[in-house]
Amino acid sequence: MNVNIVKILRKISVKKYAFILIIICFIFQLIGYKFGNSGGDIVKVNIDYVTVHFDLKGSPPMLTYMMNLLPTLKNYGVNSILMEYEDMFPYEGNLANLSSEIAYTKTELTDFLLEAKKLDIEVIPLIQTFGHMEFVLKLAEFSVHRELPYNPGEICPSQPGSLELIRNMLSQVITFHNFVQPIKYIHIGCDEVYNINDCPNCIRRNLKNHQIYYKHLINVKNIVKDLSPNTKVLFWSEFNYSQKRINLKNELEDYKHELNDLEPIDWEYVGERVNSARLYRMHEVFNRVWFATAFKGADDVHGKEPDIMKRYLNHIHWLNQVLTYKPPKYNVKINGIVLTGWSRYSHFARQCELLPFSMPSLILNLLLIKLFREGINRDFLYKYNHCQIYERFIKKDFEKVYATHASHVECSFRSVSVAKLKYPNYKSCLARIEDIRTDWEIYSLTNLQDMTNTVEMCNDQLRNGIIVMEKLKPLLSEFYRKEVIDNYLNETINFYDTKVGDGIKEFIMKIMNFTFLPRRSFGPLPIIKYGD
Ligand SMILES: [Zn+2]
Repeated sequence: MNVNIVKILRKISVKKYAFILIIICFIFQLIGYKFGNSGGDIVKVNIDYVTVHFDLKGSPPMLTYMMNLLPTLKNYGVNSILMEYEDMFPYEGNLANLSSEIAYTKTELTDFLLEAKKLDIEVIPLIQTFGHMEFVLKLAEFSVHRELPYNPGEICPSQPGSLELIRNMLSQVITFHNFVQPIKYIHIGCDEVYNINDCPNCIRRNLKNHQIYYKHLINVKNIVKDLSPNTKVLFWSEFNYSQKRINLKNELEDYKHELNDLEPIDWEYVGERVNSARLYRMHEVFNRVWFATAFKGADDVHGKEPDIMKRYLNHIHWLNQVLTYKPPKYNVKINGIVLTGWSRYSHFARQCELLPFSMPSLILNLLLIKLFREGINRDFLYKYNHCQIYERFIKKDFEKVYATHASHVECSFRSVSVAKLKYPNYKSCLARIEDIRTDWEIYSLTNLQDMTNTVEMCNDQLRNGIIVMEKLKPLLSEFYRKEVIDNYLNETINFYDTKVGDGIKEFIMKIMNFTFLPRRSFGPLPIIKYGD
């Protein structure tokens, strides 16, 4: 080192070193900030509500487990829970049969609501009041209110008795909730109203489908306001009546003054179908709208755990749309996001992706929402694809919770699996059995080697099923009651186990009893009859 410089440095005190260091750090920070932000604006998704949907229909976790989840959810930015009770609410009086035999008790629910209140998490009850009323209308005593006599899905909105039934349901839920904490919002369902304006009572009104739909919404909203004047009403925006076929703004002009305090939630769970044009059309009519993604239960009715990539893309598409969204008016707002987590596709469908297996998907997407709410550089969104956004902003926090086996080919979270269970592939097994059975029925014979291979392959799956069951039972007992676990195992394993077992027994018998066949005949096939 140059002697003069050494002399100069020796003259500088330690304090001065520290001062110079601070100045240098500051300059580097400035440079880093400039590079890091590439000169772009920080943009934010400005929403008040981050709401997680607990779909309790036929797959209710124990409330103690859900209570334990609350602080975690709070930590990741959740400030409200959408409780879709279906048959898990403890209805009373003439509604007692609406409740499942294992419905939550009022004491359990009170404890849950108090815990949520303590954590400042708002609970929004969801009560179906139009479509998906199977749990009500399947019962003999309420079947008279069906829109179609053979279908328990939709209630007829044109019978006074239907509105009385809805009032009674809402009254019990609202009274219970308000006793613990006054509810700001209630959700009245109203999605997938497949059968509408079909019964003689509705047809007599001589209204269009969307008029029937919105008049019912307004009637139900008025019931809510009567029971709880300060409560606002959410509903699933129904595509058929609000987005596809009609100009909603014009069509609802006559009802405009009656739509106050109604807030639609636009839901779309497939990434590429997300389009803020629908929000725009909603905003032409409603001042506050919401949007809904799915963290589980949206890809396959047979799903065991969510396709985490699809779920991530669903969220990132929505957040990007909201970020660049320009509403039609100044005084409107996108109020919140609902992360739906479907447990069954309907009351009569089987249990799909269970909540404990879906937690990585939920946490990942909550981290993503947090990032977009806190602010992200606009340029990053143009520069980075979804995987790079994950790698750069989310991976570190996500892997603190869920260690992953990074492939570096795709986003590394793709391989996350809580249980690491390999469910048996009964579907392909049954398909092969059916193919071979058909061949046999037509030709009285099939390739015996195929049959032997299928028996072996199916036996492997049956053994696999037993292993998975043994692992699942203790694993799930932490989260679900025995009745729910048994039901899940029956739907996903035992039912197929019996079917596959019967199929291969039949094949073994056929192989064992095979003797001989006559020379090939080109006559009519044995099972096909021509005329008499
Ligand atoms: Zn009707």
